[in-house]
Amino acid sequence: MLTTLTKFIDLIFENSCVICNESSGQNPICQSCENDFTVRNEKNNFKSFEEINIYSWGLYDGRLRDGIIALKAGKNKLASYFAKKLIDFWKTLPEDIRGKNYLVMPIPSHKQRIKERGYCQSTLITKYFTEVSLLNFSNSLIVKNKQTKYMNSLNNINEPRENIKDAFEIINPIQAKDILVIDDILTSGSTLCEFAKIIHKAHPDTNILGLTVAAGDRYN
Ligand SMILES: [Zn+2]
Repeated sequence: MLTTLTKFIDLIFENSCVICNESSGQNPICQSCENDFTVRNEKNNFKSFEEINIYSWGLYDGRLRDGIIALKAGKNKLASYFAKKLIDFWKTLPEDIRGKNYLVMPIPSHKQRIKERGYCQSTLITKYFTEVSLLNFSNSLIVKNKQTKYMNSLNNINEPRENIKDAFEIINPIQAKDILVIDDILTSGSTLCEFAKIIHKAHPDTNILGLTVAAGDRYN
């Protein structure tokens, strides 16, 4: 009886896991799928590039990859779910890293992609992140002017650097000294590096840090 009732309530609230379709209670992703995520993996949660240092919560693999693909494929309720994970991860970073008055920006999607998808997933994540962290949010300073290839497939997680080159444009003055850039996934790093590069070109002294939900374990 209780099981029937629970199933009935789950039906009403549509709480079935977006990854495996099993009942997931109050969450969009069930405990079993969550247990499968590789998170705070020491090898994977920090990457340093010439332009930017990037922290990532999870490994872009298995069911976490499925979850991020679902986020991009219409399950925009996952944005707040992943933002909460990102907030918890952010709190574990050293005070000298996170204790700055960051202006927080999402990696923007191209307007055509936003039109197709109905939203920009990194913007949604960043909005939730700043609501909780009380840092300043902005998505009106930089736009993505160039359509780049869709990188969902397993065999094509690395976006070639030439694809993303000159994809972003600063459209309003940037005043911030410290900028935190948020994206859903870090693959080759070329997107976040290109984004940081155009900020540094206009404002060489800006301190830029990257934060992503997940990072791929394959690099060119
Ligand atoms: Zn599940």
